[in-house]
Amino acid sequence: MNEDDLYSQNQVLRRQLKAFVSQARNNEEKMHRFQNQELRLISLNSLAELIETILYEYRASFELDAVTLTLVDPSYEIRHILEDESDLHQHPQLLFWGSTDKLDALFGCSEAPFLGYYREHEHRPFFPSSEQCFASVAVLPLIRSGEIIGSINLGSRREERFIKGSGTDFLQRLAAVVAICLENACNHERLKRVGLTDFLTSVNNRRYFDQRLLEEMTRCQRQSSVTSCLLLDIDFFKKINDSHGHRVGDRVLKEFAALIRKQLRVSDLLARYGGEEFVVLLVDTPLSLSIEIAERIRSELEQHRMVIESGDVLQITVSIGVALIEGKPNQQSAEWMGELLVEQADQALYRAKNEGRNRVICNGFCLLPDPLSPTAC
Ligand code: GH3
Ligand code: MG
Ligand code: MG
Repeated sequence: MNEDDLYSQNQVLRRQLKAFVSQARNNEEKMHRFQNQELRLISLNSLAELIETILYEYRASFELDAVTLTLVDPSYEIRHILEDESDLHQHPQLLFWGSTDKLDALFGCSEAPFLGYYREHEHRPFFPSSEQCFASVAVLPLIRSGEIIGSINLGSRREERFIKGSGTDFLQRLAAVVAICLENACNHERLKRVGLTDFLTSVNNRRYFDQRLLEEMTRCQRQSSVTSCLLLDIDFFKKINDSHGHRVGDRVLKEFAALIRKQLRVSDLLARYGGEEFVVLLVDTPLSLSIEIAERIRSELEQHRMVIESGDVLQITVSIGVALIEGKPNQQSAEWMGELLVEQADQALYRAKNEGRNRVICNGFCLLPDPLSPTAC
């Protein structure tokens, strides 16, 4: 090999080395970007924050034309969790699917991301609200315990952005971290809900009621609005337990909770206050309407026929105390207002019991079961 050949070979090798170094730098820079994203994901506190970060921050930090997120949610559980925290209509990039069909069609048995040219009929379902035309897309399956739980979908107008056959290590790792974070966030929300729900009747428990009462009283003060409280206590419940056993008693509690629920709006709050006592908060509801709702519950229960295993028909009645509070800005503390509201409802309930049960009593008004006529007590 002469000197010229050696020189040109040396130049080729130098160029190759330069290209490798540049690629290594690129990869290092990419790795840092992905690592920062991972740390950000792990530090988030709620499912809503997690989803917003994926939808909006990824698009900016990875310079993409579209990012959508598909979640497989056949029982509407994730939707219900998110509805408490955010308005889902504001995020058309968040897609809920009832089954894994479309994902199975794209991935088959593979767990690897799909990278390649955008094909309208195949990829449109992953970007339904986007008006843009993409040139290439990446669809990253989200997999937990061998099951596909959704996908992150990235769209670009650049053809060379996602090329079939190119390395997907970073994307795969990102998808794995997102899948873990999503699962953790869902589990966390489930636990929170279990801790705030009464296991027998599935309505909210006392802990949840106490939290919401404070929130409602604060809102009531801010908006100078009214909130009513109903305290409901089943009459002679102990006798039901004593005569028919605890299992029948439990059934009565479940049926009563369901019956109350039916008379309320979704914005009303129902909780089991303890034992055979339930509490209802009616937000922005005048006293006359609150009394009407209480009376409807009382009379529905009175007419309810519960046939038990022995063939006996149980007749159950309830006594209800009603109270109302009107908020004024800078009034007393929200805690004080909440305590007063419940205390007043409790006093009314006490009177309903003393005056013969199966009736609705409200600060100074007494509603007798039949006929329904308010009489001053
Ligand atoms: P009153 O008309 O004065 O309200 O009488 P009562 O018998 O309804 O009230 P009391 O407070 O004397 O009895 C309530 C009973 O409810 C006593 C308790 O054992 C029973 N209880 C509380 N929680 C449950 C439960 O989860 N399941 C069942 N089966 N019974 C319960
Ligand atoms: Mg009681
Ligand atoms: Mg009772």
